Amino acid sequence: MDKPKILVVEDEEKIARVLELELTYEGYEVQKALDGLEGFQMVQKESWDLILLDVMLPGISGIELLRRIRANDPHTAVIMLTAKDSVEDKVSGLDLGANDYVTKPFQIEELLARIRASLRFHKKPAVEEVHQDWLVVGDLKLNEVTREVLREETSIELTPREFDLLAFLMSHSRQVLKREQLLNHVWGYDYYGDTNVVDVYIRYLRNKIDKPFGGSPLIHTVRGVGYVLKESK
Ligand code: CA
Repeated sequence: MDKPKILVVEDEEKIARVLELELTYEGYEVQKALDGLEGFQMVQKESWDLILLDVMLPGISGIELLRRIRANDPHTAVIMLTAKDSVEDKVSGLDLGANDYVTKPFQIEELLARIRASLRFHKKPAVEEVHQDWLVVGDLKLNEVTREVLREETSIELTPREFDLLAFLMSHSRQVLKREQLLNHVWGYDYYGDTNVVDVYIRYLRNKIDKPFGGSPLIHTVRGVGYVLKESK
C-alpha cells in the first residue's frame, strides 16, 4: 500500500518543520504549506489522505480553507489545530466537517494517535463504489452524487449552475445541443431570460475546464446551432 499523504498547513515554521519530520519518520508522505492560500493551491492540485490544518493562518484562515475543501470534497480527513481556549474555532471547525481537532500545544504522540484514527475511519470510498456515478468524457470526469469535477485528475470548482450545465453537456456528449435546449434543461422552462445566458455560462465553463488544461478543448461551438461537448480528434 502507498504511504498515506498528509498535507500540513501551518504558518509557524518551527511547528510545521517538527510535524514534517515526525510524520515522515512515522512513514507518511508529507508536504507543508505555510499559509492558507498556498494550502488552498495544494489542495486543488493534488488529493490528500489527511490534512492537518491550523486555524489561525495568514491569507485564508483555516476555517475558510476547510469550508472550501468541504465544498467539493466530503472525504479527505481533516484535523484542525486550534489554539488552547478557542471553543468557537473547534465548534465551527467541526460544523464545517473537520474530522477532529487537536489543541496547541499538543503532544506529538496524541496527534499521531488522532491521525491514525482519522485515516482508519475516513477511508475514501473505493473507486468501484463510486464509479457508476461518474460521467467520463476523455480526461474530464464528473460525479453527480458527490458533485466532483476532475480534469486530468485535477479538481475543478464549479458553481451549481455551471455544474448542472456541464452535467447536461456530458450526459449528451457528441450530441449538438441548441441554446434553447440547454436553457430549458439547465435553467428550466419558466426561465425568462434570453439564450445569451447560455453563452455566458459556456464561457465560464471553458475558462474552468478547457483553458487551464492547454491541450484540446472539449466544448465546441456549432455555429448557428449551439454547443457540443466531445473529444476533439
Ligand atoms: Ca498559526
